[in-house]
Amino acid sequence: MSQHPLPNDLHLATLAVRLAADRSQYGENSEALYLTSGYVQPSAEASARRFAGEEEGYTYGRSGNPTVSSFEMRLAALEGSEACLATSSGMSAVMLMLFSLLKAGDHVVYSQSMFGSTLKLIGSEFARFGVESTVVPQTDVAAWKAAIRPNTKILFAETPTNPLTEVCDIAALADMAHNAGALLAVDNCFATPVLQRPMAMGADIVMHSGTKYLDGQGRVMAGALCASEKLIKEKCLPVMKNSGMVLSPFNAWVVLKGLETLDIRMRAQSERAHALALWLEQHPAVSRVYYPGLTSHPQHALSMKQMSNMGGAVLSFDVKAADPQTGRTRAFHVLDSLRTLSLCTNLGDTKTLLTHPASTSHGKLSEDQRQAAGIGQGLIRVAVGLEHLDDMKADLLRGLETL
Ligand SMILES: *Cc1c(COP(=O)(O)O)cnc(C)c1O
Repeated sequence: MSQHPLPNDLHLATLAVRLAADRSQYGENSEALYLTSGYVQPSAEASARRFAGEEEGYTYGRSGNPTVSSFEMRLAALEGSEACLATSSGMSAVMLMLFSLLKAGDHVVYSQSMFGSTLKLIGSEFARFGVESTVVPQTDVAAWKAAIRPNTKILFAETPTNPLTEVCDIAALADMAHNAGALLAVDNCFATPVLQRPMAMGADIVMHSGTKYLDGQGRVMAGALCASEKLIKEKCLPVMKNSGMVLSPFNAWVVLKGLETLDIRMRAQSERAHALALWLEQHPAVSRVYYPGLTSHPQHALSMKQMSNMGGAVLSFDVKAADPQTGRTRAFHVLDSLRTLSLCTNLGDTKTLLTHPASTSHGKLSEDQRQAAGIGQGLIRVAVGLEHLDDMKADLLRGLETL
């Protein structure tokens, strides 16, 4: 039991390290990790009340766990949402949202620049069950509006996007969704609540891959949905209990501890990313840098307004090349010349991770589709970590200076 409940006017920075389920009778200072799949019931009557939903209390691991609850409480506070439900991965959070809110004949509008698995889950898997969908260009507000139909239930946006860091106007999309009687869901993976709080801009649901910045150190898979108490309790929780996309207590504990340093990590990594983007933009072997913090970014003003004047920790750049084949060869050379930074498909780590989108995340697209999406063969994505800026530059120079 928590002998001293927290005051109710604490700042987010304080909640990020303090908010959690009650302490046990041992008074542990660091939140306990409850590795248990079942819970001993105080009495048969109490058990019956818990199963009937008339009394609070844990019953079985698929329905809840105190360590998982701590993570949910803390993330909800940071996102400014009433409630949160943790899931086993970011994609299971998307799955839970769609499964909880849609039925055959419903329609979803979403951006063509979304995370690859999100595109496939909606456009292919849910289509098999009669869910209709329309993909629209990320930044074209008129196209979002034109795509809305009478049966549209969800507008789903991700901002900034991977890997080109395109930004969409959350407040405008929220208005549009509400005028159509639909909900706006935002994948807040890249910005995190440190930079951007979609609920405050009108979003109804915030989705997270906890695998990324929330953990922050590349250790575990995790995900979460933040929304109103009503939406979580009435729509998502029943599906969760019956489908079992639960976050494991161990992973919840890791991500819970990750949230304690989220604020300082995001600020430090954004600062490094900004400096690296400015430097890359000046390099003669680089033709273009994509980063919301640069004044050359097409939505720089919107980004700064929406993302607390920070650009985030992910940037991409094109190596200069006359044709796609040369671009690929040059990008591979830069990646194969790395000795400190990692060639690794993930992001949100304290270690800087680089990828070649055209042959990995966007590898299954045809060359024409890739061109349309702006993912060239010379494109390299950098998810900036916490190494010293000079060492990052030196590692990139190894390849850039020997093209
Ligand atoms: C990684 C990622 C996801 C999926 O999360 P997983 O934890 O890998 O399932 C969804 N959206 C974005 C923007 C991501 O980067």
